Amino acid sequence: MAEEDLYEILGVGRTASQEEIKKAYRTLAKKYHPDRNPGNAKAEEMLKKINRAYEVLSDPEKRSNYDRFGTADFRGVDVGSFDDLFGGLFRSFGFGDFGMGRRGRYGPPQGRNLRITIPLTFEEAFFGVEKEIAFSRQTRCETCNGSGAGPGSSPRTCSTCRGNGQVMRSMGGFLRVSETCPTCEGAGEIIDSPCPKCKGSGLQKERIEIKVPIPPGVEDGMGQRIRGGGDAGQRGGPNGDLIVRFSVEPHEIFLRRGLHVILEWEIPFSVAVLGGEIEVPTMWGTSKIKVSKATAGGTRFRMRGKGVHTQDGRDGDQIVLLSIHIPTKLSKEQKKYLGKYSEVFD
Ligand SMILES: [Zn+2]
Ligand SMILES: [Zn+2]
Repeated sequence: MAEEDLYEILGVGRTASQEEIKKAYRTLAKKYHPDRNPGNAKAEEMLKKINRAYEVLSDPEKRSNYDRFGTADFRGVDVGSFDDLFGGLFRSFGFGDFGMGRRGRYGPPQGRNLRITIPLTFEEAFFGVEKEIAFSRQTRCETCNGSGAGPGSSPRTCSTCRGNGQVMRSMGGFLRVSETCPTCEGAGEIIDSPCPKCKGSGLQKERIEIKVPIPPGVEDGMGQRIRGGGDAGQRGGPNGDLIVRFSVEPHEIFLRRGLHVILEWEIPFSVAVLGGEIEVPTMWGTSKIKVSKATAGGTRFRMRGKGVHTQDGRDGDQIVLLSIHIPTKLSKEQKKYLGKYSEVFD
């Protein structure tokens, strides 16, 4: 169950430099090259292992992951599929990608971006969950349809900026800068008789309450920007964006890395010496692993399929890092036996 050691495959020590790793890789790749071993399936298999070991150990980040957790394979959730799931959902509620027509340099200003954080427990992020999200945002005023103009009137083009929303100002010499039109404040339009409902802003408040199914495997800090999902802009300006982020609580004993779960687990000294079966907690319930005799601290076990199961059928693993419990308080009898032990072994 414990994985093959990548350092052993390349025949280098754990503290080997990048140069030493490269050298060892080149020598071995030559030795097992198909040209030298035609039709030799074992050599081919070996070459694959060498390539894989080199791929990990030559990359400082992958190597450090491997050193700590016994694996370099920390793929996150595929952002593409996540985007489809989550963005699609928000769009189905009418969020996003609207009010975009006038987004540009000039014209009425864009609405504010809205940020919401969805807090999740470790379990919710692991298994997926349905969450209720509630927030308020500015939407177009229904009375004036966002124009800000009162009934019977309509906005007229600003004569100062001729509808651009910007005016040029001379700074002396040939230096001219453009700035927001002081008459219309950038809108490009003047409203003589404002809408009584929204007082000319063209906006009204809207309360949003939606149920969001969150797929298994989201991670802390992960999220999405939904273009056009934020506040509507004043006087027909484009919408801001809605930015959703997940904040995932840490677990008491488990650690997430992509789809994998990491667990540091202590075994009794006697089990480390004599071997035996131990029970280990996983997110899917307790599982047993076999510890062989003379197991050293730092030994890793990979429990296949005990990590996150994504909706598109990928399964993460649980990686167990064993440490050995060294007893600090010993009874007379225990001392006697350990004395005997050292007589026999040391
Ligand atoms: Zn209005
Ligand atoms: Zn103007």
